[in-house]
Formats: sequence, structure tokens, C-alpha cells
Amino acid sequence: MEGRLPQRDDQVTFADLLATDDPIERERLIAGLVARMSLKEKIEEMTGNSGWPKLAVMAVRYGLWTFDSGKIARLGIPALRFTDGPRGVCLNHSTCFPVAIARGATWDADLNRRVGSAVGYEARAQGANFYGGVCINVLRHPGWGRAQETFGEDPFHLGLLGVATVEGAQRHLMACAKHFACNSIEEARFFVDVKVDERTLREVYLPHFKKCVDAGVASIMSAYNKVNGTYCGHNEHLLRDILKNEWEFDGLVMSDFVWGVRNGLAAAKGGMDIEMPKRWRFGRRFKKAVKHGDVPEKLLDESVTRILRQKARFAGVGSSSEYDRGRVAGREHAELALEVARKSIVLLKNEGGALPLEREELKSIAVIGLLGALPNIGDRGSSRVNPPYVITPLQGLRNRAGAVDVLYDNAKDMSTALPKAAGADAAIVVAGLNYKQEGEFLSSIAMVGGDREDLSLPTAQVEMIKAVAGVNDRCVVVLEGGSAVTLGEWIDYVQAVVMLWYPGMEGGHAIAEVLYGDTNPSGRLPFTWHRSVDQLPFFDKKAKSMDYGYFHGYRHFEREGLDPQFPFGFGLSYTTCEYGPVSVDKGSIGKDGSVTVSSSVTNTGTLPGEEVAQLYIGYPHSSVVRPVKELKGFARVGLGPGDTKAVSFKVDTADLAYYETDNGEWIVEEMEYVAQVGPSSGDSDLRGGASFKVE
Ligand code: BGC
Repeated sequence: MEGRLPQRDDQVTFADLLATDDPIERERLIAGLVARMSLKEKIEEMTGNSGWPKLAVMAVRYGLWTFDSGKIARLGIPALRFTDGPRGVCLNHSTCFPVAIARGATWDADLNRRVGSAVGYEARAQGANFYGGVCINVLRHPGWGRAQETFGEDPFHLGLLGVATVEGAQRHLMACAKHFACNSIEEARFFVDVKVDERTLREVYLPHFKKCVDAGVASIMSAYNKVNGTYCGHNEHLLRDILKNEWEFDGLVMSDFVWGVRNGLAAAKGGMDIEMPKRWRFGRRFKKAVKHGDVPEKLLDESVTRILRQKARFAGVGSSSEYDRGRVAGREHAELALEVARKSIVLLKNEGGALPLEREELKSIAVIGLLGALPNIGDRGSSRVNPPYVITPLQGLRNRAGAVDVLYDNAKDMSTALPKAAGADAAIVVAGLNYKQEGEFLSSIAMVGGDREDLSLPTAQVEMIKAVAGVNDRCVVVLEGGSAVTLGEWIDYVQAVVMLWYPGMEGGHAIAEVLYGDTNPSGRLPFTWHRSVDQLPFFDKKAKSMDYGYFHGYRHFEREGLDPQFPFGFGLSYTTCEYGPVSVDKGSIGKDGSVTVSSSVTNTGTLPGEEVAQLYIGYPHSSVVRPVKELKGFARVGLGPGDTKAVSFKVDTADLAYYETDNGEWIVEEMEYVAQVGPSSGDSDLRGGASFKVE
């Protein structure tokens, strides 16, 4: 890039950083700029500038403004203008996409890249330049109140979808992946100490963050909780040893909001770069400590360098004139929200062809339950989006009903609901959860959200389902929520069950398409659905300390020989598919090699559909304790009736390594590895017969 370079280092301004593409020269100029900054200016760079009054307003009406930090006019340094959130931009009236867990159920990285890009566009068009909505925490237990904000339970799957979202968003602005690390209990988030051994940390809780770092994510947000005795915001092992030194992350670490830094000195030493959203622990006392030499000023210089580096990197991304506010929540993004909702819906049960509901054969259907006619798009904490409209399931079903009469009853009074359900050709019960039962927990503002201690549906809903199923033998349950609920015995009473999640502003259209058979369901569970709560790892929403063991999700179920309600990766379709033999391109590979596993999928039914082919690798001869098998590849394939398509997955041996704690090394074992491909992780679904050796 041609441009003016400063004559002398002591004249450098931010504009000069943009005049060069040479990374070494840019680093030199950043150093010059940092050298020109006063201590006060460095601290301004490292702290958000929202005051308490603004925060109080935002607590009630999140998304009114961006959270800003670090504007220094004298040197031409622009502010960071932060917005959230995981299902769309919190600002104003933006597009509300299905929640992240629903997007996890699409198993579609490219689709998530498009969502990331749409959200990035909308954030930028509304004045933000920093987006904090890439949540990639492991879903360890379905009771976690913020399960909806992440993509699922598996680190491989989380990594691919996290990277795709980051890449999409970073076409427009800086993105931040969160919450680093082991953050998966909501109500205890400010105090719980997660005890986790190094191997578990490296193999289960961190690999997806590493993938985002390798993909160039600009920022990582530290979590509120402690890991092994130290708050994540002060945690030198996490922030410096692993993230900054070992992974060579050159971006910035931002604190989670308000309580993410408890002590400025500890945070600066630990590796924190920006305290958000206000100057508090990096405040007056901190400044004094720096002046007295208790905090080395070179730590601040390093943080400011990281911040300026990212500001400079993104200053030239997308020209401001291409961002049009008129496209925010416009048609194109609404259509994308619909496409995502469509691909995220998981058909869990379908007995006797209860679904689809053929419009030509039906006179009437009855929609039963409060949630049928309620906009229900998820949590109302920091991931809240205020879209211009929300299509409810009832509206969607009515819009596409054709000649079918769609009756509705909220079921507050079963004596009016049951006759409607009994008289209709099919009954659709909409049940599940809402923001009051799960979500971000802000007890000081409202006692809503938080974790779920009881994983069952509310008793009244279970009674409603059973009663409706008692009068209509084509009873379909549509579930809303951010994670699994215990289905209990009621699932045996009904003919079909569909997981709709919190499906965003177009969700009602998507569920109608699926129920009427205009769209063939193709979502797959991004977590293992338990049959009973005693199958799950220990969870305590008030825990002061909690052990996160090596096994959770399907790894735990398979190790313990437990039979889940639905396995990880599971989802039905209106068509049927068969998998061909599984093969590998090489029988043996070296330790730095890669292997390609192939199979084929044939649509053996009569309808077009999309299949999610999944590759699992097992380690039957390992010398250490390992999961029975792990997901190592997946692909979404569209198939017309009778079509066959090849699927292949490249696996690098590095992805098969385990972490050896004593020497701090990743070890690729020399042994035989077993490859299986199929439509879910369930043993009976998988085709095997292929193996390869690492020698
Ligand atoms: C949440 C973060 C979020 C931040 C800013 C916090 O309460 O824990 O996930 O990014 O607020 O919106």
C-alpha cells in the first residue's frame, strides 16, 4: 500500500499504521505510537468507557448502544465499538437468527459462515466494529442456562462452526470468541472454581478455541469463573502460557463484562488486555500501582500493542460506504434466517407416518399450547435480539395452510382445548421452555433465566401433552428450548416429536414447512439426549467448586455403556438413506500424515432430502484411556430420490493425538485406528470395516 510514512518515530499517529502492509514495519510503527502514549492514554486504551448510569439503562434495554473503549483523538486512534450477540446483533431491530445451538444442529459450517457474515454486516451497518457473539463453550450438561448460546457438546464440531462464524463476521469487523474457558454453569459463573486436569483442558475444553486462534480471531473473551483456583480473567496459565505463548495468539484478550476482572494487578499480570465495559479494576488504584512500579509498565505496552495491532488490521476491512442500514433485518437476511431455521429442525420421532401432514388429506389441524402463538426466541440477557417481527408456529401454519382449517387453543383451560384437539385430523402441541426458565441469570435485575435444576417439562405441559394424545391419535409435539428436556414416559403417548429450538424470527415459517412436508427435516442433534438425569455428569448450579472430568456427552455415554434417548448426531428424515462401504485411501501413514476416509450415501426413499454424514474414529488399541470414538468429520449432502453421492473426509494424524501431561506433548500413537461413517454416533447407525495404521 502506498502512503505517507512518518519522518520520525515520535511523530507516529494511528493513520501511519495504515500506510504500510509490511508486518514488521507496522510493528515498528506501533511501538513508536505506544512510546508516544501517556500512562493515562494507555489505560484508556485498555478500558471500556461506559459509566454506571449507561450500564444501568443497558441492563434494562440491552442493545441501545455499543460499548466503547480506547478512542484517543490526539493520536488519531479510533474507538472499539462493541456489540453482541450469538443469535444476531443486539442493537436496535436486527435480524434474529435461530440460536447457536440450533445452528449447531445444521452441521453446516458454510451456512454458519453466511450467518456470521450477515451478523457482521448488520453490526457494522449500525456503527459497531467489534462483535462478541461467538460463544463456543462446551455443552457439558443440558441444565446449563446458556446452552442455547453455544453450538453443542463436541470440540471438533464446535471448532468448525466457531471458525466459520468468526470468518464470516471478520469480513466486516473484529470478532471475539468466548468464554475462555470452562464456562458452563450460569448461576455459579461469578464464583465457581472449575477443577480440570491438564489433559481434559487441552483435549476437551480448549481445542475449538485453538482453531479460532489459528483462523485469526481478533479477540478472546475470558470467562467469569475460576479454573483451577484462579479467575479466568487473571489466569496466567490460560491467557499467557497457552493462549499467547504456546498458540501465538497476537490478538487481544477482553474481560467478560463488569465482573471479569477482580483485581487489576492480577489481571494485567495474568494477561488481560481490556477491561470491559468500564474502567474499574484498571482504574485509579491500578494507575498508582503502575506509577509505583508494582505493575510493570511493559505489561501495559504489550496490551496496548495488541489492541492497536487489531485496530490497524481491521481499519481497512470493508469500506464504510458499503454498509447500508436499510439491509438490517431486510429480506435477504430474513431469508437466511429462514434457511437456517429450516435446516436446524430435528425430527426426533415419527411413528406410523404421522408426519408430514399432507394438506390435501386434512380438513383441520389443532394447534395447542401457549407457546404455539407466542414469539419465543430465547434468552433476554446479553444475547437478546429485538427483531422487527417474529413468526410464531401458529402464524406459520396458518400462512401455509391452503384449505386446511388451523384451530388454536392456548390450553389454559383444557375443557376448551380438548374438544378442538379431538375434532381435528391432527393435533400439534407446542411445548417447551422460554427465557424465564433458562438463560443468562441476572438476579440483581430480574429473577429470570439461569440454569435448569429440573430437566423435565413443566407438569402442566406434560399433562397437556398426555391429554391431547388421549383424544387424538395423530399427536405431534413441537418442542422449543435451548437444550434437552427429559422426555419421560410422555414420548410413548405421542406419534411424533420435533425439536424446533428457539428458531429466530422466521421460525414459524420453517416449522410449518417441515410439518406440512414442504421441507424435509435435516437437522441433527449437536448433543447426546439423555433418557434419564442419572445418566448425566454431576451438575450443581450453585457449586463453589466443580470437577470437570474427561468424559461428558457421547464420550461419557459410550464409556459407561448408557443408552441415550437419542444419540449425538441423531435426526430423522421423511426419506431414507443407506451408506455404502467405508474405505481409507492408505492402510498406513506416518506420524505427520493424513488419511482420507470415504463412503457413499444413497437416498433410498421417494423424497429429496439432505443427509449429514458423520465420520467417527475409534482407538481400540490405545495405551491410554480414550473415548470409544470421536467425531472427526462431517458433511451435509443433498440427495434426490435414488441419488448416490460420495462423501470423503480428510483426517490429519495431528487430530488423532492425545495430550500427554507429564511432558506437555501431543502424542500420536503408533497403532491401528478404526473409521466409521453414518448418520449419527449411534452404533447401529454406523458402517465400519475400515481401519488404518499410524507407523
Ligand atoms: C456475558 C457475555 C457478553 C457480555 C457483553 C456478559 O454478561 O456473559 O457473554 O458477551 O455480557 O454483552
